[in-house]
Amino acid sequence: MRVPFLDLSDVVSELRPQLDEAWHRVMDSGWFIGGPEVEAFEHEFAEFSGAKHCVGVANGLDALTLVLRGWGIGPGDEVIVPGHTFIATLLAVSQTGATPVPVEVDALTCNLDPAAIEAAVTPQTRAVIPVHLYGQLADMAAIATIAQKHGLLILEDAAQAHGASRDGAQPATHGHAAAWSFYPGKNLGAFGDGGGITTNDDALAARLRTLRNYGSTVKYVHDARGVNSRLDTLQAALLRVRLGHLQQWNDRRKAHAVAYLAGLAPIAAAYPDLRLPVVASGSDPVWHLFVVRHPNRQSLAAALAERGVNTQQHYPITPQQSGAYRESLGGVKLPVSEQTAAEVLSLPIGPHLTDAQRGYVIEMVGEALATL
Ligand SMILES: *Cc1c(COP(=O)(O)O)cnc(C)c1O
Repeated sequence: MRVPFLDLSDVVSELRPQLDEAWHRVMDSGWFIGGPEVEAFEHEFAEFSGAKHCVGVANGLDALTLVLRGWGIGPGDEVIVPGHTFIATLLAVSQTGATPVPVEVDALTCNLDPAAIEAAVTPQTRAVIPVHLYGQLADMAAIATIAQKHGLLILEDAAQAHGASRDGAQPATHGHAAAWSFYPGKNLGAFGDGGGITTNDDALAARLRTLRNYGSTVKYVHDARGVNSRLDTLQAALLRVRLGHLQQWNDRRKAHAVAYLAGLAPIAAAYPDLRLPVVASGSDPVWHLFVVRHPNRQSLAAALAERGVNTQQHYPITPQQSGAYRESLGGVKLPVSEQTAAEVLSLPIGPHLTDAQRGYVIEMVGEALATL
């Protein structure tokens, strides 16, 4: 059997008539930037995620960057970020001219450790960006308490967490804003790049609508130095189709995760080097990724590949150890984050994984571990 990590052509196969209808609707409308289709998606996604506003933008990195710019964060400011995340979280801070300050993640959930924030706060700290890695929300209640104490703004990186909640609260509940990516492989993905911001803050939403469109809401009136970061009309129309299936597809991911955890538990008991993902209490993750850990991750990945099971690594090195940040942040030592990055291995999970494929992956993990 061959188990691909993720095959997006399955998305098209399942939804083709609806996607074709949306595509033709946009083509026939003659309206390709903004317009009612984008407004309808913004409205529907805000409603889905329980926020007052959604502002569509060009991608997830811009969503993060524009919120920071909307808050006036720039040179001389510091923004606290997790030491284990996709590099976009740090790049967004750098793009504003501010300094990203990576801090330790929790060894069990791989999410920002609330206890690590306090030690990193300086008079220059303006904001914190918790990342809801792998589809599980960070401990937002604890983070919000600390942020409030120090007057920090909270921007949630929700690029992997469409539909996730913790104690009933979705992103942009405890935080002042949440940034979303609609990159094709995300739980809610477009057919190209796309991103969005949700917030309950009226003034921030208005400012973001201006910033994303050349600093203008009225044509040729430019009140700020904005950027061109708009969500395409076509992507909005296609996203509306996929949004209609998000809940159901998240449920399929959850069913796979439950079965993985049950099937892999006896294997992890026999091979204690294998560590399974941990769900925090009160947490309702959407399993963007199913990430196991093993000290000999490369050999495990190779043994699985030999057996037809494709895996990936999210992310194999921390941003501060990468070439992009080695010079400025290379001296930062975060042992938990570094070890996490060195051990993570993502097994195939997605709405189109079959039960047979999932069973095969479980069996092959057992076989592969026996060869190490
Ligand atoms: C995907 C992702 C982003 C960036 O999204 P793009 O749409 O690719 O710009 C940011 N943060 C995290 C955690 C992501 O997974």
